[in-house]
Order: sequence, then C-alpha cells, then structure tokens
Amino acid sequence: MMHAMVLEKVGLPLVYKDIPVPVAKGFQVLIKVKACGVCQTDLLIIDGELTCPKLPVVPGHGIIGRIVCKGATVGNFYNGDLVGVPWLGHTCGYCKFCLEGKENLCDKASFTGYTMNGGFAEYVIADIRFCIGLGAEYDSPSATALLCTGLIGYRSFSMIEVSAKNIGIYGFGQAAQIITRIAKLQGKRLFAFTRETDKEAQIFALRIGADWAGSSNESPPEKLDAAIIFAPEGELIPKALMNVDKGGQVICAAIQMTDVPAFPYHLLWGERSVRSVTNTTRQDNAAFFELLKNIPVHIQTEIFELKQVNDAILKIRHGKVKGSAVLIME
Ligand SMILES: [Zn+2]
Ligand SMILES: [Zn+2]
Repeated sequence: MMHAMVLEKVGLPLVYKDIPVPVAKGFQVLIKVKACGVCQTDLLIIDGELTCPKLPVVPGHGIIGRIVCKGATVGNFYNGDLVGVPWLGHTCGYCKFCLEGKENLCDKASFTGYTMNGGFAEYVIADIRFCIGLGAEYDSPSATALLCTGLIGYRSFSMIEVSAKNIGIYGFGQAAQIITRIAKLQGKRLFAFTRETDKEAQIFALRIGADWAGSSNESPPEKLDAAIIFAPEGELIPKALMNVDKGGQVICAAIQMTDVPAFPYHLLWGERSVRSVTNTTRQDNAAFFELLKNIPVHIQTEIFELKQVNDAILKIRHGKVKGSAVLIME
C-alpha cells in the first residue's frame, strides 16, 4: 500500500488515503515519486472546471522520481533512472492529430493526474514513452515546474515566428521567467506586462533581463512582433492585439481564460493572429530539455509535504505561493 492524496468528488478537498501500489505493465514504469508540482491546473480539476476527471483520481503532474519497476516491453530505461512525468500521459497514435504530428491535440489522449493517476502519492505509474529521462542536475524540486509550466512556456515561445524581435509577455510568472532567459539568449527584446499594482513583478522582470516592464493597461515604447498571454484573462487578448504590429501574433498559453470581450475588427486587421497553445508534444519536451542545457534556469519553489496538498491548493487559490508549489515525498 502507499500514501496518496485522492480527489474522490469534484469540489471537495483531497483525502489522505492508503491505496494499493499500482503494477507496471507493458510500456509502463512504476516510479517512486520524489517531488510533484501543484499548479493552477490541479485547481481546475478539483473545482470541476476541467470536466470528467477519472474519479477517484490521484492528481498531480510535473513529477520527478526514480523507476523502481518496469513493464515487460520497457527498453532503454532501468531501475534507478530519474525520469520526469509531464501532463500528456498517453496518446492513441492513430487519430488524425497523432498521425499529423500534433499529438498534443489527440482525440483520445490521457493526462497525468486528471484522466490517469498522478504524483500526489508515493508511487505513480507512467508510460515510459511519454516520460522524460532526466540527468542528475534535475534531481531537485524545481525541476517539477520545468515539466509543467516550463514546457507550456516553451511551446508558446516556439509558436512565435523566428524573425520576431520584440516579444511581449502578459503575466510574469515562472513560465515567463524561463522564456525571458531563452529570448534574451536569442537576442530578442522582451516586454513584461503585469497587473497594474504588481510593481514587484515589474522590478523582477527588469532584473532578470526584460527590456521594459509595465502594466497590462500600458502600451510599450515599441510595437510588439508577438505577445504571449499566460494570465487567464480574456480581456488581455484585445489589449495585446493593440500592441502587436501588423503580421503580429498573440498566443494564449492558459488552459482556461475568462471570456474575451468584443473588440473592433481593426485590431485583428493587418494579418494579426490569435491562437491558443494546448498541451505539449513529446517533441516539444525533448527540444525544451535540450535547450535547457545552455540556459541556467533558477525556479523558486515553496515546499509542502504530501499531507499538506490541500494547504498548497488554498495558497495557490489566493495567490500566496512564492514561486512554484512542490510536494516532496521523501
Ligand atoms: Zn491520437
Ligand atoms: Zn501544471
């Protein structure tokens, strides 16, 4: 048996329980969880905003841990290997999206800690083909954020045309920090937009390399070629469109957003575009970790024990977590 925090019913706190340790079959591995991130997506699952979770479910994606047992068809990985488990847990491999290399959109995808059990437990089962092999440098709680917000941030950033020079970011959290470092390394100019009152985030953005920081109600000193919106606020879409130049892109990274207010067509005119980012592919995952080899990313974390998940969730709800919330299992 193992300790786990279980969502038994949408809308209720997670329950600390002893449940059977799962058995790895086929391409699955049994992973002894070292750390697991807690994020906004978990809140959406608990609150029922992301509908139809497997119930009961052990939430938690962005897991790091070591393989302790493997199914018969697992090659190339061994017991003791450190692996990361992201949100995308499985895809069908034969729907039109999978066949087009867009497995992030798979019709029959499974998601870690949502439609399959996740990392709020001592052990988790994962399909090795969707895990990320990690070097010893990732044997730390902060790696969990790379596997969640980091990956989405990377995919959002990779949507931007290579020629884009001026990049705006709305909502300056962990993903934004990672992108700032990547963008600066590529010689791009970075414009950080935060809440009007969040001067602290603006100062922080400038300190880590942003060329300009201000409120999301302001216009930057130069037109943007692209903007990424991490904040889940639909009203930011027309605001960002106002600031992007002709041909510019507005990319929405949030898994859910409040309604987008009506806006005049001229904001979109000039071949501006708006698109969302949905999950990540294994190709994104590999490319992101390859890129990280050249970019030192420091992620601030706030540590919780397994039993404290409900506290972590409450703190996230009230925006009280400094950095990323991470559960530590040992
Ligand atoms: Zn598919
Ligand atoms: Zn997450």
